[in-house]
Amino acid sequence: MQFLPTVPDAPVKWNFAVIMSMLYKKNTVIKSMKMKKVVITRIIVIQFLLIFPVTLINLNCQAGKSGNKSKYKFEIPPGFLAEREEIPEFWISTVGDVYAFLKKTVKKGELQVIGKSAGGRKLYAVFYGQPRQGNGTSTFSGSLGFGNVRAYRGPDHEKLVYLGISGVHGGEFEGIVGTVNLISIIETGKDLRGKEWPDITEAVSRLDRLILIPIANPDGRDRIHIRMTIYRNTDATVTEYLNTGGKPDGTITGWPQVKEFIPADFSIPGFPGGYPNDAGVNIQHDDFFGKPQPETRALFDLTALERPDLILNMHTGAIYMLMHRPFAEPALTPVFDKLFSKVMTALAVNGLQETTDPQTEADPKRVKQGQFNLDGALNMHCGALSVVVESPSHGFSGKNRKGEATLLTPDMLLDSQLICHREAMKFLSETGGRSKWTPGVRK
Ligand SMILES: [Zn+2]
Repeated sequence: MQFLPTVPDAPVKWNFAVIMSMLYKKNTVIKSMKMKKVVITRIIVIQFLLIFPVTLINLNCQAGKSGNKSKYKFEIPPGFLAEREEIPEFWISTVGDVYAFLKKTVKKGELQVIGKSAGGRKLYAVFYGQPRQGNGTSTFSGSLGFGNVRAYRGPDHEKLVYLGISGVHGGEFEGIVGTVNLISIIETGKDLRGKEWPDITEAVSRLDRLILIPIANPDGRDRIHIRMTIYRNTDATVTEYLNTGGKPDGTITGWPQVKEFIPADFSIPGFPGGYPNDAGVNIQHDDFFGKPQPETRALFDLTALERPDLILNMHTGAIYMLMHRPFAEPALTPVFDKLFSKVMTALAVNGLQETTDPQTEADPKRVKQGQFNLDGALNMHCGALSVVVESPSHGFSGKNRKGEATLLTPDMLLDSQLICHREAMKFLSETGGRSKWTPGVRK
């Protein structure tokens, strides 16, 4: 050891560069090549002993800072996370239950991990049919300038591709239950109540490609680890608290106040709700053109690859199911109007709107232009018409136009989901998709 400097008490950082520079100083006492070899071997051993534990500690610190935010202890008022006593078997909504269902059930389709959440949870998608083959020759924006989306979508641009997304907001379970039951129908012909939906099977068969993402924000969903909340009549407090978060005393953050701070600060006492992922970001309002979250990145990558025509983004937050008018290319406005009419008519005549009158419920003038959000970003990213659909909540009753409390049972909530998907898929095959919606001037 005589050729190695003894480790002094002074806080010299013994890294590779320091030791090597000492070794090769002009007055070094190392003379022979043999001795050099011995010294270098010892240096490597000492480097390992000195540096390796430090690296491990550093890695652990980084994981604690930027990884899963479960280190935060949320303060939720007692009873807010109470689960309903009688939960229907078809109500599969938690991350664990949904992922177990997918692994057990998906056989006709292909189950794939399309990314990981900020908290490290897997993002699953189920794929049916064949993807588009080949690539376009231009960007989406370039194809608009050229005058035909074929330039972006490629040789089989007329293929019909449908994408269903649910669970963007972790406190909104209805869309997840709908997607799970839709997968059950495609796989077995029946939903999880045993009800057959031959018209859904038929609608699916007319598509070329169908992709379903049951939980787009598993971090947010996992933060509310119950299957189903208690029904609380017209009191929306608990549902809103679980969704938008709130203080330890039960005061809700509320909507739209929850959107003032993105990313949310998880160190503030209370509960951040199910909106954000583990990085505190509500991906419906992500930093799309800056540094999007991994969940958003996964959606962008998937939609760039698949170039879907129509995307349904299933949320909860209406009195009766309602489709929102997206911030999208003006050329898609008449397409949205027709889609809205078709979906809302079917919901009305099936008793899932306030009245059974399509003239009242299915008039597209009901919905004003929406703000820029994930759906606008997806439209501009890949040309799809991407729309938010808001479901009523299982946790409380809203009030209708007459001020009366409404009641949609869990069965009616599921029927709304399935009818909405069925009509949207039928709309896509009947109208021919993006290549027919905006045929362009150049062929
Ligand atoms: Zn939502």
